[in-house]
Amino acid sequence: MGLLEGSGAYWRFLGQCTQCGHCTGACPSLTAAGLSLGGIAEGMLDAERSASTPEELACAIASDPALVQAVRGCFFCTSCKNTCFAHNDVCDLVYQARVDFQRLGLIPREAWSSVLVDQEWDIFTAYRAIHGIGYADLTRHVASEGHEAEGDCAVAFFPGCSLAAYGPELTREAFAAVEELGGKATLIDCCCGSSLKSAGFFDRAEALCERNAEEIEASGARELVCVCPGCANDMRAALAKRGLDVEVRLLSGWLAERGFEPRRPLPEGPLCLAKSCQDRDGSYLEQTREALGLGEGEGVSIFNGCCGAGGAVSAFDPSRQGRQADAKLSFAPEGSTVVSMCPTCTYTYAYRLMEAPRDVRSKHYAELLFESQFDWDKTFAQLGGMWSGEYGAWLAQVFA
Ligand code: SF4
Ligand code: SF4
Repeated sequence: MGLLEGSGAYWRFLGQCTQCGHCTGACPSLTAAGLSLGGIAEGMLDAERSASTPEELACAIASDPALVQAVRGCFFCTSCKNTCFAHNDVCDLVYQARVDFQRLGLIPREAWSSVLVDQEWDIFTAYRAIHGIGYADLTRHVASEGHEAEGDCAVAFFPGCSLAAYGPELTREAFAAVEELGGKATLIDCCCGSSLKSAGFFDRAEALCERNAEEIEASGARELVCVCPGCANDMRAALAKRGLDVEVRLLSGWLAERGFEPRRPLPEGPLCLAKSCQDRDGSYLEQTREALGLGEGEGVSIFNGCCGAGGAVSAFDPSRQGRQADAKLSFAPEGSTVVSMCPTCTYTYAYRLMEAPRDVRSKHYAELLFESQFDWDKTFAQLGGMWSGEYGAWLAQVFA
């Protein structure tokens, strides 16, 4: 291997890129950098050629602000991919570049120390421990006080890290519905690892999904019901890699197929459905529309593009997440509700609405299906208080 782990990937990308620049025009980050995606591959290879040690290579990359902007400013929203006649895969390229950045020490520790979701402590597990949120009683495939490990589950439920931490009542209500409609259920109480990928730990993210797949195999479940499209995609890939015949479904579509009726009326006012970046063909969004009983032209509009949370861009350019969320929220009419597919998007919009209030609400689709709701005021207050309260010193030490 040369100095760059991704040399092969960069050469392959360049071989398929005409440098037409269409992707640049589709992306504010690439526009700011003045680079196309092919330019990222070229920049990485140029830097490698100019260096004979990893330290020299790190210096060469760090002294190219356009390259750093293009790699660390990427939301992985794939908007650029839609403009590329060759359908070049931006995620493959930028994830690889993040891996090289991480190996070369170009992503500072404070950008990722609290989201190492394959370790004992990350921001979600710390929040849960401090606020007494746990699911040992629902995690039936793992032995705990009160039950042995059970391998005869019919279905596994994967709420994902944000929902499990910030919406415990909603998690439990959704779990109960999955069990009622799908048979004996267990909860996979883990993360899909997307924050690891953003930080350049691609292998660790894959290993985490493999660990989840191992748990699903041990549970005996033949169906995996995920709340978030990103978790569903990553877990589908991991289960296939392990050769397991487990069907992966999004909660909304799975419920709709079983005749589940929403337990509360739809919010008043227009609804803006935010398509997840991970929902490339829009099929998860369509399933969700069906679950909510929303047809065409019923005061429903669709948001495309990232909420601002993707790719851990906020750790590189702190104000950009807010600007991106504002850009998306500017399409939401007064009195409307933005309905996201991914709980992290719901969090991101809710946070922005707290910072810059307007007459718009942020909801996850599960909140439109079930009685239980997120309580963002409480969550944000508790998250902020963690750092200054009795656990502040411990958190500062763990995430130093
Ligand atoms: S749109 Fe595709 S072919 Fe054109 S510069 Fe971007 S990656 Fe290359
Ligand atoms: S994935 Fe999104 S943020 Fe990343 S380069 Fe493409 S358009 Fe820009």
